[in-house]
Amino acid sequence: MENNLLKVNNLHTSFFTHFGEVKAVQNVSFSLKKGEVLGIVGESGSGKSVTALSCMRLLQAPGKVVKGEILFNGENILKKSKKEMREIRGNRISMIFQNPMTSLNPVSKIGNQIVEQIIEHKKISKREARKEAVSLMEKVQIPDAEKRINSYPHEFSGGMRQRAIIAMAISCEPDLIIADEPTTALDVTIQAQILALLRRLKDQLETSVILITHDLGVIAEICSRVIVMYGSMIMEEAPIDDIFFNPRHPYTMGLLESIPKVGAKKEHRLIPIKGTPPNQLNPGKGCPFAPRCKYAMKICTKRLPEYTWITKTHRSMCWLLHKNAPKNPFKRVKN
Ligand code: SF4
Repeated sequence: MENNLLKVNNLHTSFFTHFGEVKAVQNVSFSLKKGEVLGIVGESGSGKSVTALSCMRLLQAPGKVVKGEILFNGENILKKSKKEMREIRGNRISMIFQNPMTSLNPVSKIGNQIVEQIIEHKKISKREARKEAVSLMEKVQIPDAEKRINSYPHEFSGGMRQRAIIAMAISCEPDLIIADEPTTALDVTIQAQILALLRRLKDQLETSVILITHDLGVIAEICSRVIVMYGSMIMEEAPIDDIFFNPRHPYTMGLLESIPKVGAKKEHRLIPIKGTPPNQLNPGKGCPFAPRCKYAMKICTKRLPEYTWITKTHRSMCWLLHKNAPKNPFKRVKN
């Protein structure tokens, strides 16, 4: 029996600019089960955030979903009215952004902002909402919550502000939390604490999470499945162990090589992927990674490869997986 909470089918999202159509998301399909944590990883401009904004119907003009289907609990949210979408956002899907300061009102007390969020979605009194706000602040481990409820955002550290945002995000016990680079602005220790908090809350609330990041290290901390995006498309999708120990796409391999390695020889500590991401204004016909791929062949610039299913849960879009491919770098990868 299918227990998908979210199912995205053949999503295409573009920005219609003065210079032309920027194809930000092309032919993206994936699903998310109830209680699952899915990671979407890629460089900036790969389409990961636009995919999330499309799912939330939060795209600003000139952005537009051109084609596709986004089924949330079996209902196509692209067909919902603005009013229905407002109810879904905040009640059933919450979003956490990278910079908590952009989501918090700097001149309003943290507690008031959480209370407002609760009252907007629950029919309870202000007094009850305030009590709930304190309990939420405790749940996200903000110390001295009774007192800190009266603080302003600038009186909180970056990590505490992100905790307050998470408290707001879980205030309505959503089915799905989309976290877009939630730890990027934080230092490493705080980042680990926030990820541990998200993991714990996900277990407690049985919420599904989509975690968007450019950092595979962050993905490893919390996700069970990963989508690797590049040039507005999904390059590879697999369970977390397969991505780390059995990658089947040169871009994923490049991302893995670019993770700093403790204890490695200096020259092997970090190997960045050379080149720059593609321009989505004039994407070529072939594989978007071809200009940066050290294994690129003639066909790569001419035709887009189809997905090859390595297992039932692992797919990759690369000509090297074609049965007639002359070289196979994956053989060197230890299974
Ligand atoms: Fe590299 Fe070609 Fe595979 Fe694209 S299709 S990742 S260019 S080998």
